[in-house]
Amino acid sequence: MNAVWTEPEAPAAAAPSHQAAAKIERETHKLEKRLCREVGRAITDYNMIEEGDKVMVCLSGGKDSYGMLDILLKLKARAPVNFELIAVNLDQKQPGFPEDVLPAYLKQVGVPFHIEEQDTYSIVKRVVPEGKTTCGLCSRLRRGILYRVADELGATKIALGHHRDDILATFFLNMFFAAKLKAMPPKLVSDDGRHVVIRPLAYVAEKDLVRWAQHREFPIIPCNLCGSQENLQRQVVGDMLRDWERKHPGRLENMLHSLQSVAPSHLMDGTLHDFKGLKPTGVASDDGDRAFDPPELPPVPAMPSAVQVVSLG
Ligand code: SF4
Repeated sequence: MNAVWTEPEAPAAAAPSHQAAAKIERETHKLEKRLCREVGRAITDYNMIEEGDKVMVCLSGGKDSYGMLDILLKLKARAPVNFELIAVNLDQKQPGFPEDVLPAYLKQVGVPFHIEEQDTYSIVKRVVPEGKTTCGLCSRLRRGILYRVADELGATKIALGHHRDDILATFFLNMFFAAKLKAMPPKLVSDDGRHVVIRPLAYVAEKDLVRWAQHREFPIIPCNLCGSQENLQRQVVGDMLRDWERKHPGRLENMLHSLQSVAPSHLMDGTLHDFKGLKPTGVASDDGDRAFDPPELPPVPAMPSAVQVVSLG
């Protein structure tokens, strides 16, 4: 899809007497523009949404899925292709789930929706021994139900609200605990082979979704109703990423770009690159490897001379 997914119009200039309010408005507008641009870019780069698609937007009641629906609705109004959106929430019958919140919000927004009621909570509680993690079975059950619902609704795409930071956290979790270089794809065929799953927030930073949720005052439903804690390792990796971003702004963006610029010949997977059969080509190449050169890194900032003396000594 080559057509441009456009950005919102700039707000009219505010009166000088309202400078503080105008600043907030400008910042919010910049945020909205960035969200629309990043979602539009991901949709275009991976051809996520095509003419005539019916996109089932999975809505959990968390900030990410609210943000995804909100931005997709904005883009739909000015997209170069026609597509439908239908919001779907799976009510898993967790104790205390406020079942009126999402229908009320979706009616107010005016988007078609479907609430699927399935008591997976009781199944998980019955099957998983006390003290064991419930998320594996719970997600498997949820996945199966959502695929069935997608079939019943005639959805051609299933949109999930994972964002840039989820993708990067998954990348490290897979590296640390599964010994695999593998993240979360922006678009994939589901494991039952019957559906195309998309992640329109793939380029969006989590902190932008937090700010957008505050600005839009989404009626967030807490995600700990099932009593299960977020995976501890995911929390640790999330903290690591946030710490890096604080100390080295732009690092997460670079890491995401690196996932789009992979050099299999410089990794070690013999199934992706024929290391065993490698022979001299006899042809010089500007892109070829300069095996004895150090890797290209940004310059190290100059150090104060006293420190240099100490470190040299
Ligand atoms: S946190 Fe609760 S609802 Fe979420 S996947 Fe785990 S068990 Fe299921």
